[in-house]
Amino acid sequence: MFDNLTNRLSRAMKTLRGEARLTEANTQEMLREVRMALLEADVSLPVVREFVAKVKESALGTDVAGSLNPGQALVGVVHKELTAVMGGDLGADASELDLTTTPPAIILMAGLQGAGKTTTTGKLARLLVTGELIQNGRKIPKKKVLVVSVDVYRPAAIEQLRTVAGQVGADFFPSAADQKPRDIALAAVDHARKHHYEVLIVDTAGRLGVDEAMMQEISMLHGLIKPIETLFVVDAMQGQDAVNVAKAFGEALPLTGVVLTKLDGDARGGAALSVRHITGKPLKFIGTSEKLDGLEVFHPERMAQRVLGMGDIVSLVEQAQRNIDIAEAQKLASKIKTGDRFDLNDFREQLQQVKKMGDMSSLMEKLPAQFAQAAGQIQGGQAEKQLRRTEGILNSMTPLERSKPELLKATRKRRIAAGAGVPVQEVNKLLKQFEQMQGMMKQFKKGGMGKMMRAMGG
Ligand code: GDP
Repeated sequence: MFDNLTNRLSRAMKTLRGEARLTEANTQEMLREVRMALLEADVSLPVVREFVAKVKESALGTDVAGSLNPGQALVGVVHKELTAVMGGDLGADASELDLTTTPPAIILMAGLQGAGKTTTTGKLARLLVTGELIQNGRKIPKKKVLVVSVDVYRPAAIEQLRTVAGQVGADFFPSAADQKPRDIALAAVDHARKHHYEVLIVDTAGRLGVDEAMMQEISMLHGLIKPIETLFVVDAMQGQDAVNVAKAFGEALPLTGVVLTKLDGDARGGAALSVRHITGKPLKFIGTSEKLDGLEVFHPERMAQRVLGMGDIVSLVEQAQRNIDIAEAQKLASKIKTGDRFDLNDFREQLQQVKKMGDMSSLMEKLPAQFAQAAGQIQGGQAEKQLRRTEGILNSMTPLERSKPELLKATRKRRIAAGAGVPVQEVNKLLKQFEQMQGMMKQFKKGGMGKMMRAMGG
């Protein structure tokens, strides 16, 4: 899913190559690609607009200093915002199933016919019966589970639930087409109480489209049995339609969470973003196969990663940030701010910082294929070599020479070149580069480590 987002992002990253910081102008192209990719993935327009605005706001405030280049910094921002929009902003336990009530904990399943309610009821029962459900790192102990169907309009649906319940080892409360949904529901709750069931899952009737009678019925059932969880089951393949359905259910019922099914198919996945946005409720589970073990706890962070097809890019960006010695960088930054003289000793210090970011070529390997391609021209090996040569020259100078570069006349230059094993021209080149940098420092007195760092590395 979201293949296009990955492709479009990597294409747009190329346009950012060589840029020193994220600005209104240079992020525009990338943001346009993000926008197109989301629309192609069937995310609804208002959601796209809001998302892109957030990414933009967050990107423009982003300090690129620690990361490899602004393109990656922007991908980092997209990832962060994607995680937030998928529910990361709700807190770590938002996707947990709440079972903390006097037993039985009642779970009401809502959604259109074919969305996957009955299958999900079975899958959820299975997770609870087997004790395989892990929430926030904690294993939920095995539960005694009862399931019931109030779908009196489709006897086949009741039979389907009976079969599924048998397969997963949950108990089935029988119901029949000639009964009233409210009577079935009340009887099931009563039975669950008397027989000490810890969880009761109520599978409801679905229609092919949203209709008034259906909404009234499920709303009535909700008031009657007061479930602790009301899960809206929605088919990820539904795309844009999912938004309208989610809206209708969200208005009729106080939903507590969403289950997105059929994410294993060729769903474009946009529904995940839209539904979350429209209902304001956390996604709690995702259906990943037709089989009864195909239900996973939803993790916003992992989903965002999957959406971006990002490989290790997040950890890569983090690594670059971690390895920069923050204290040293700040010392340097304040030196520049206060207008202290920037000498070759400081220059050397900075090179060391750049080196700490890690071996360039090994960093490149961490990138997923598309990004590595996009960044192909960075040529890690070349940068390394240049860096080593520059360092050699600086090391051949005495501390005094480094603090007073004006001392460096022909004789000293020859000695330094010999010490570093380079032609004298290289020493001159470095000194010239250093002069340019001093000039640049003046422009950057107001901060802007990012551009400086890059000037050193390139
Ligand atoms: P209901 O009408 O809402 O109860 O929907 P069902 O539970 O009967 O599911 C409708 C169809 O979708 C069935 O063929 C299920 O096997 C299939 N289905 C449900 N969840 C998933 C899923 O996560 N992945 C896949 N591939 N199929 C699913």
